[in-house]
Amino acid sequence: MIYLHVPFCRTFCVYCGFYSEIPCAGRDDYGAYAKAVLREIGQRNLSAARLGPKTLYIGGGTPSVLPLSVLEDILHGLETAGVDTAFDEFTVEVNPDDVVRRGRPYIEGLLALGVNRISMGIQSFDDGILKWMNRRHDAAAAVRAYSLLREAGVRNICVDLIFGISHLSDGTWRRTIGRTLSLPGGRPEHISAYQLSVEEGSALMKMVEAGRYSEAAEDSCARQYDMLCSILRSEGYEHYEISNFALPGRRAVHNSAYWSGASYIGLGPAAHSYDAGSKVRSWNPESLEEYTGTEDFLQSAGKERLTGGQVLMEKIMLSLRTSDGILCSDLEEAVGPDTVDEMTANGNLQRQGSRLRIPEDRFFVSDSIISDVVRNLK
Ligand code: SF4
Repeated sequence: MIYLHVPFCRTFCVYCGFYSEIPCAGRDDYGAYAKAVLREIGQRNLSAARLGPKTLYIGGGTPSVLPLSVLEDILHGLETAGVDTAFDEFTVEVNPDDVVRRGRPYIEGLLALGVNRISMGIQSFDDGILKWMNRRHDAAAAVRAYSLLREAGVRNICVDLIFGISHLSDGTWRRTIGRTLSLPGGRPEHISAYQLSVEEGSALMKMVEAGRYSEAAEDSCARQYDMLCSILRSEGYEHYEISNFALPGRRAVHNSAYWSGASYIGLGPAAHSYDAGSKVRSWNPESLEEYTGTEDFLQSAGKERLTGGQVLMEKIMLSLRTSDGILCSDLEEAVGPDTVDEMTANGNLQRQGSRLRIPEDRFFVSDSIISDVVRNLK
Protein backbone atom coordinates (compact mmCIF):
# COMPACT_ATOMS: atom_id res chain seq x y z
CA MET A 1 0.00 0.00 0.00
CA ILE A 2 1.49 3.30 -1.07
CA TYR A 3 0.24 6.82 -0.50
CA LEU A 4 1.71 9.75 -2.44
CA HIS A 5 1.05 13.22 -1.11
CA VAL A 6 0.79 16.10 -3.59
CA PRO A 7 1.16 19.38 -1.68
CA PHE A 8 -0.23 21.80 -4.28
CA CYS A 9 -3.57 23.61 -4.56
CA ARG A 10 -4.59 26.41 -6.90
CA THR A 11 -6.77 28.10 -4.26
CA PHE A 12 -7.44 27.43 -0.59
CA CYS A 13 -10.82 26.18 0.64
CA VAL A 14 -12.26 28.04 3.61
CA TYR A 15 -12.38 24.95 5.85
CA CYS A 16 -8.96 23.55 5.05
CA GLY A 17 -6.28 23.29 7.69
CA PHE A 18 -3.90 21.11 5.65
CA TYR A 19 -0.54 22.34 4.54
CA SER A 20 -0.40 22.99 0.80
CA GLU A 21 1.22 25.46 -1.57
CA ILE A 22 0.00 27.44 -4.55
CA PRO A 23 2.72 26.75 -7.17
CA CYS A 24 4.74 29.87 -7.99
CA ALA A 25 4.65 31.18 -11.54
CA GLY A 26 8.14 31.14 -13.05
CA ARG A 27 9.46 28.53 -10.58
CA ASP A 28 9.56 24.85 -11.42
CA ASP A 29 7.81 23.66 -8.24
CA TYR A 30 6.44 20.51 -9.91
CA GLY A 31 9.87 19.59 -11.26
CA ALA A 32 11.52 20.10 -7.85
CA TYR A 33 8.75 18.05 -6.21
CA ALA A 34 9.12 15.20 -8.72
CA LYS A 35 12.90 15.12 -8.27
CA ALA A 36 12.54 14.94 -4.49
CA VAL A 37 9.90 12.17 -4.66
CA LEU A 38 12.19 10.16 -6.96
CA ARG A 39 15.08 10.71 -4.55
CA GLU A 40 12.89 9.50 -1.69
CA ILE A 41 11.79 6.42 -3.67
CA GLY A 42 15.45 5.61 -4.38
CA GLN A 43 16.37 5.75 -0.69
CA ARG A 44 13.37 4.10 0.95
CA ASN A 45 12.95 0.39 1.50
CA LEU A 46 9.69 -0.20 -0.39
CA SER A 47 9.36 -3.88 0.47
CA ALA A 48 6.31 -3.10 2.65
CA ALA A 49 4.55 -2.11 -0.59
CA ARG A 50 4.38 -5.83 -1.33
CA LEU A 51 2.43 -6.47 1.89
CA GLY A 52 -1.34 -6.14 2.08
CA PRO A 53 -3.44 -4.98 -0.86
CA LYS A 54 -1.70 -3.68 -3.97
CA THR A 55 -2.92 -0.10 -3.90
CA LEU A 56 -1.65 3.36 -4.74
CA TYR A 57 -3.54 6.40 -3.50
CA ILE A 58 -2.50 9.84 -4.75
CA GLY A 59 -4.00 12.49 -2.51
CA GLY A 60 -3.41 16.02 -1.43
CA GLY A 61 -3.56 18.90 -1.81
CA THR A 62 -4.87 18.66 -5.33
CA PRO A 63 -3.15 15.94 -7.39
CA SER A 64 -5.04 17.01 -10.53
CA VAL A 65 -2.86 20.13 -10.82
CA LEU A 66 0.19 17.94 -11.55
CA PRO A 67 1.31 17.46 -15.15
CA LEU A 68 0.80 13.86 -16.30
CA SER A 69 4.51 13.67 -17.06
CA VAL A 70 5.28 14.11 -13.33
CA LEU A 71 2.99 11.20 -12.41
CA GLU A 72 4.54 9.13 -15.18
CA ASP A 73 8.07 9.81 -13.89
CA ILE A 74 7.06 8.88 -10.35
CA LEU A 75 5.44 5.62 -11.49
CA HIS A 76 8.54 4.83 -13.48
CA GLY A 77 10.61 5.51 -10.34
CA LEU A 78 8.46 3.07 -8.37
CA GLU A 79 8.90 0.41 -11.06
CA THR A 80 12.66 0.91 -11.08
CA ALA A 81 12.62 0.46 -7.29
CA GLY A 82 10.98 -2.96 -7.77
CA VAL A 83 7.36 -2.05 -7.05
CA ASP A 84 4.80 -3.86 -9.21
CA THR A 85 2.79 -0.91 -10.54
CA ALA A 86 -0.12 -3.01 -11.81
CA PHE A 87 -2.11 -1.86 -8.79
CA ASP A 88 -5.42 -3.52 -7.92
CA GLU A 89 -6.72 -0.14 -6.85
CA PHE A 90 -5.07 3.07 -8.08
CA THR A 91 -6.90 6.20 -6.91
CA VAL A 92 -6.24 9.82 -7.80
CA GLU A 93 -8.03 12.73 -6.13
CA VAL A 94 -9.21 15.37 -8.59
CA ASN A 95 -10.84 18.78 -8.53
CA PRO A 96 -13.79 19.20 -10.96
CA ASP A 97 -12.32 22.46 -12.29
CA ASP A 98 -9.09 20.70 -13.35
CA VAL A 99 -11.03 17.88 -15.00
CA VAL A 100 -13.11 20.33 -17.04
CA ARG A 101 -10.13 22.51 -17.94
CA ARG A 102 -7.83 19.64 -18.89
CA GLY A 103 -10.64 17.65 -20.49
CA ARG A 104 -10.71 14.16 -21.88
CA PRO A 105 -7.00 13.92 -22.81
CA TYR A 106 -6.14 14.34 -19.12
CA ILE A 107 -8.56 11.59 -18.01
CA GLU A 108 -7.36 9.27 -20.77
CA GLY A 109 -3.80 10.01 -19.66
CA LEU A 110 -4.67 8.96 -16.10
CA LEU A 111 -6.31 5.75 -17.34
CA ALA A 112 -3.26 4.99 -19.48
CA LEU A 113 -1.10 5.26 -16.35
CA GLY A 114 -3.26 2.57 -14.71
CA VAL A 115 -5.55 4.78 -12.61
CA ASN A 116 -8.78 2.84 -12.00
CA ARG A 117 -10.50 4.94 -9.35
CA ILE A 118 -11.14 8.67 -9.17
CA SER A 119 -12.05 10.54 -6.03
CA MET A 120 -13.62 13.91 -6.81
CA GLY A 121 -14.26 16.61 -4.23
CA ILE A 122 -17.62 18.08 -5.23
CA GLN A 123 -18.68 19.03 -1.67
CA SER A 124 -22.02 20.63 -2.67
CA PHE A 125 -24.33 21.24 -5.61
CA ASP A 126 -25.32 24.66 -4.30
CA ASP A 127 -23.39 27.49 -5.97
CA GLY A 128 -23.79 29.81 -2.96
CA ILE A 129 -22.28 27.19 -0.63
CA LEU A 130 -19.48 26.41 -3.10
CA LYS A 131 -18.61 30.08 -3.38
CA TRP A 132 -18.63 30.46 0.41
CA MET A 133 -16.26 27.47 0.65
CA ASN A 134 -13.98 29.17 -1.91
CA ARG A 135 -14.13 26.11 -4.14
CA ARG A 136 -13.03 26.94 -7.66
CA HIS A 137 -15.85 25.07 -9.40
CA ASP A 138 -19.60 25.52 -9.49
CA ALA A 139 -22.30 22.85 -9.60
CA ALA A 140 -22.43 22.84 -13.41
CA ALA A 141 -18.65 22.23 -13.61
CA ALA A 142 -18.98 19.34 -11.16
CA VAL A 143 -21.65 17.70 -13.35
CA ARG A 144 -19.57 18.34 -16.48
CA ALA A 145 -16.45 16.87 -14.86
CA TYR A 146 -18.33 13.77 -13.71
CA SER A 147 -19.79 13.31 -17.13
CA LEU A 148 -16.34 13.61 -18.73
CA LEU A 149 -15.00 10.95 -16.35
CA ARG A 150 -17.80 8.55 -17.28
CA GLU A 151 -17.50 9.27 -21.03
CA ALA A 152 -13.77 8.53 -20.86
CA GLY A 153 -14.51 5.17 -19.21
CA VAL A 154 -13.90 5.72 -15.49
CA ARG A 155 -15.88 2.94 -13.80
CA ASN A 156 -15.12 3.64 -10.15
CA ILE A 157 -15.81 7.15 -8.84
CA CYS A 158 -15.96 8.47 -5.32
CA VAL A 159 -17.72 11.78 -4.70
CA ASP A 160 -16.93 13.81 -1.56
CA LEU A 161 -19.65 15.93 0.07
CA ILE A 162 -19.81 18.23 3.11
CA PHE A 163 -22.77 18.79 5.45
CA GLY A 164 -23.24 20.52 8.81
CA ILE A 165 -22.61 24.07 7.56
CA SER A 166 -24.64 26.57 9.57
CA HIS A 167 -26.27 28.11 6.49
CA LEU A 168 -26.86 24.78 4.70
CA SER A 169 -30.60 24.12 4.92
CA ASP A 170 -31.99 20.58 5.06
CA GLY A 171 -33.65 21.22 1.69
CA THR A 172 -30.36 22.22 0.03
CA TRP A 173 -28.62 19.21 1.55
CA ARG A 174 -31.38 16.90 0.30
CA ARG A 175 -31.01 18.38 -3.18
CA THR A 176 -27.22 17.89 -3.06
CA ILE A 177 -27.70 14.21 -2.21
CA GLY A 178 -30.34 13.90 -4.95
CA ARG A 179 -28.08 15.49 -7.58
CA THR A 180 -25.22 13.21 -6.53
CA LEU A 181 -27.43 10.19 -7.14
CA SER A 182 -28.59 11.42 -10.53
CA LEU A 183 -25.17 12.33 -11.96
CA PRO A 184 -24.88 11.50 -15.68
CA GLY A 185 -23.50 8.12 -16.68
CA GLY A 186 -24.55 6.38 -13.45
CA ARG A 187 -24.46 7.27 -9.76
CA PRO A 188 -21.10 7.17 -7.99
CA GLU A 189 -19.82 3.82 -6.77
CA HIS A 190 -18.69 5.50 -3.55
CA ILE A 191 -19.72 8.55 -1.53
CA SER A 192 -17.76 10.10 1.33
CA ALA A 193 -19.55 12.74 3.39
CA TYR A 194 -17.96 14.79 6.15
CA GLN A 195 -19.41 17.11 8.73
CA LEU A 196 -17.78 20.54 8.46
CA SER A 197 -15.31 21.06 11.27
CA VAL A 198 -13.36 24.16 12.21
CA GLU A 199 -9.72 23.21 11.71
CA GLU A 200 -6.75 24.88 13.32
CA GLY A 201 -5.04 27.16 10.79
CA SER A 202 -8.05 27.35 8.42
CA ALA A 203 -9.67 30.56 7.14
CA LEU A 204 -12.84 29.30 8.82
CA MET A 205 -11.13 29.36 12.19
CA LYS A 206 -10.30 33.03 11.64
CA MET A 207 -13.94 33.68 10.70
CA VAL A 208 -15.10 32.01 13.91
CA GLU A 209 -12.64 34.08 15.94
CA ALA A 210 -13.82 37.26 14.22
CA GLY A 211 -17.46 36.35 14.90
CA ARG A 212 -18.23 35.94 11.19
CA TYR A 213 -19.20 32.27 11.41
CA SER A 214 -20.76 30.13 14.10
CA GLU A 215 -20.81 26.38 13.90
CA ALA A 216 -24.01 24.59 12.93
CA ALA A 217 -26.18 23.33 15.78
CA GLU A 218 -25.55 19.70 16.71
CA ASP A 219 -29.19 18.69 16.13
CA SER A 220 -29.10 20.13 12.61
CA CYS A 221 -25.86 18.20 11.82
CA ALA A 222 -27.43 15.02 13.24
CA ARG A 223 -30.55 15.53 11.11
CA GLN A 224 -28.51 16.02 7.92
CA TYR A 225 -26.40 12.95 8.73
CA ASP A 226 -29.54 10.86 9.32
CA MET A 227 -31.01 12.13 6.05
CA LEU A 228 -27.85 11.08 4.21
CA CYS A 229 -27.78 7.63 5.84
CA SER A 230 -31.42 6.86 5.15
CA ILE A 231 -31.40 8.09 1.51
CA LEU A 232 -28.19 6.22 0.67
CA ARG A 233 -29.42 3.06 2.43
CA SER A 234 -32.60 3.12 0.37
CA GLU A 235 -30.46 3.51 -2.76
CA GLY A 236 -28.49 0.35 -1.96
CA TYR A 237 -25.30 1.90 -0.55
CA GLU A 238 -23.53 0.07 2.21
CA HIS A 239 -22.62 2.38 5.13
CA TYR A 240 -19.32 0.70 5.91
CA GLU A 241 -17.53 3.48 7.78
CA ILE A 242 -18.85 6.53 9.61
CA SER A 243 -18.21 8.85 6.65
CA ASN A 244 -18.15 6.32 3.81
CA PHE A 245 -20.81 4.62 1.70
CA ALA A 246 -20.25 2.18 -1.15
CA LEU A 247 -22.29 0.24 -3.66
CA PRO A 248 -21.83 -3.54 -3.15
CA GLY A 249 -18.24 -4.57 -3.87
CA ARG A 250 -17.04 -0.96 -4.15
CA ARG A 251 -15.58 -0.27 -0.73
CA ALA A 252 -12.32 1.68 -0.89
CA VAL A 253 -9.65 -1.01 -0.69
CA HIS A 254 -6.79 1.31 0.28
CA ASN A 255 -8.64 3.13 3.07
CA SER A 256 -10.21 -0.09 4.37
CA ALA A 257 -6.75 -1.64 4.76
CA TYR A 258 -5.57 1.50 6.52
CA TRP A 259 -8.49 1.24 8.98
CA SER A 260 -7.57 -2.36 9.68
CA GLY A 261 -4.05 -1.41 10.79
CA ALA A 262 -2.11 -2.59 7.72
CA SER A 263 1.41 -1.38 6.88
CA TYR A 264 1.65 1.47 4.40
CA ILE A 265 4.30 3.62 2.78
CA GLY A 266 3.77 7.36 2.53
CA LEU A 267 5.78 9.35 0.00
CA GLY A 268 5.94 13.13 -0.41
CA PRO A 269 5.92 16.06 2.02
CA ALA A 270 4.23 15.37 5.37
CA ALA A 271 3.37 11.80 4.36
CA HIS A 272 3.30 9.23 7.15
CA SER A 273 4.31 5.57 6.92
CA TYR A 274 3.58 2.67 9.23
CA ASP A 275 5.23 -0.71 9.61
CA ALA A 276 2.76 -3.01 11.38
CA GLY A 277 5.53 -5.58 12.04
CA SER A 278 7.89 -3.30 13.99
CA LYS A 279 5.06 -0.91 15.01
CA VAL A 280 7.18 2.02 13.80
CA ARG A 281 5.44 5.08 12.45
CA SER A 282 7.53 7.61 10.52
CA TRP A 283 6.83 10.89 8.76
CA ASN A 284 8.47 13.15 6.20
CA PRO A 285 9.43 16.83 6.48
CA GLU A 286 6.22 18.81 6.16
CA SER A 287 6.93 21.86 4.01
CA LEU A 288 7.68 21.63 0.31
CA GLU A 289 10.85 23.64 0.81
CA GLU A 290 12.17 21.32 3.52
CA TYR A 291 11.08 18.23 1.60
CA THR A 292 12.66 19.22 -1.72
CA GLY A 293 15.84 20.23 0.14
CA THR A 294 16.14 16.83 1.87
CA GLU A 295 19.20 14.86 0.80
CA ASP A 296 18.79 11.89 3.13
CA PHE A 297 15.18 10.84 3.70
CA LEU A 298 16.07 8.03 6.08
CA GLN A 299 17.91 10.37 8.43
CA SER A 300 15.44 13.21 8.27
CA ALA A 301 12.27 11.19 8.87
CA GLY A 302 10.53 11.64 12.21
CA LYS A 303 9.99 8.27 13.91
CA GLU A 304 8.20 6.70 16.85
CA ARG A 305 7.70 3.12 17.93
CA LEU A 306 4.15 2.61 19.15
CA THR A 307 3.64 0.79 22.43
CA GLY A 308 1.33 -2.22 22.57
CA GLY A 309 -1.22 0.03 24.33
CA GLN A 310 -1.09 2.65 21.56
CA VAL A 311 -1.53 0.00 18.86
CA LEU A 312 -4.53 -1.43 20.69
CA MET A 313 -6.07 2.00 21.17
CA GLU A 314 -5.69 2.84 17.46
CA LYS A 315 -7.13 -0.52 16.49
CA ILE A 316 -10.19 0.08 18.67
CA MET A 317 -10.65 3.65 17.45
CA LEU A 318 -10.35 2.79 13.77
CA SER A 319 -12.31 -0.45 13.77
CA LEU A 320 -15.24 0.91 15.78
CA ARG A 321 -15.69 3.54 13.05
CA THR A 322 -16.50 0.72 10.62
CA SER A 323 -19.58 -1.45 10.16
CA ASP A 324 -17.38 -4.55 10.56
CA GLY A 325 -16.41 -3.38 14.05
CA ILE A 326 -13.95 -5.39 16.13
CA LEU A 327 -13.67 -9.02 17.27
CA CYS A 328 -15.61 -9.50 20.54
CA SER A 329 -12.68 -11.42 22.00
CA ASP A 330 -10.28 -8.52 21.25
CA LEU A 331 -12.53 -5.94 22.87
CA GLU A 332 -13.32 -8.15 25.87
CA GLU A 333 -9.62 -8.64 26.42
CA ALA A 334 -9.02 -4.89 26.16
CA VAL A 335 -11.80 -3.56 28.39
CA GLY A 336 -13.13 -6.62 30.19
CA PRO A 337 -16.38 -8.53 29.54
CA ASP A 338 -18.37 -6.42 32.05
CA THR A 339 -17.81 -3.18 30.12
CA VAL A 340 -18.74 -4.94 26.88
CA ASP A 341 -21.93 -6.32 28.46
CA GLU A 342 -22.84 -2.90 29.81
CA MET A 343 -22.30 -1.21 26.44
CA THR A 344 -24.29 -3.82 24.54
CA ALA A 345 -27.08 -3.55 27.12
CA ASN A 346 -27.32 0.24 26.70
CA GLY A 347 -27.25 -0.14 22.90
CA ASN A 348 -23.94 1.65 22.26
CA LEU A 349 -22.46 -1.60 20.94
CA GLN A 350 -24.18 -4.31 18.95
CA ARG A 351 -23.15 -7.96 18.54
CA GLN A 352 -22.77 -9.17 14.98
CA GLY A 353 -21.67 -12.82 15.04
CA SER A 354 -18.22 -12.87 16.58
CA ARG A 355 -17.83 -9.09 16.24
CA LEU A 356 -19.00 -5.95 18.00
CA ARG A 357 -19.90 -2.71 16.25
CA ILE A 358 -21.48 0.66 16.95
CA PRO A 359 -25.03 0.48 15.52
CA GLU A 360 -25.53 2.72 12.48
CA ASP A 361 -28.10 4.89 14.28
CA ARG A 362 -25.40 5.76 16.85
CA PHE A 363 -22.58 6.41 14.36
CA PHE A 364 -23.24 10.13 14.75
CA VAL A 365 -22.26 9.97 18.44
CA SER A 366 -19.46 7.45 17.86
CA ASP A 367 -16.78 9.81 19.20
CA SER A 368 -18.28 9.74 22.65
CA ILE A 369 -18.90 5.96 22.49
CA ILE A 370 -15.30 5.34 21.45
CA SER A 371 -14.06 7.65 24.24
CA ASP A 372 -16.07 5.54 26.70
CA VAL A 373 -14.43 2.37 25.39
CA VAL A 374 -10.96 3.90 25.54
CA ARG A 375 -11.54 5.18 29.10
CA ASN A 376 -12.20 1.59 30.14
CA LEU A 377 -9.02 0.16 28.63
CA LYS A 378 -7.29 -2.10 31.19
S1 SF4 B 1 -9.48 21.09 0.95
FE1 SF4 B 1 -8.15 20.14 -0.57
S2 SF4 B 1 -8.32 21.47 -2.37
FE2 SF4 B 1 -9.09 22.65 -0.64
S3 SF4 B 1 -7.31 23.81 0.09
FE3 SF4 B 1 -7.41 21.92 1.28
S4 SF4 B 1 -6.09 20.47 0.25
FE4 SF4 B 1 -6.54 22.17 -1.20
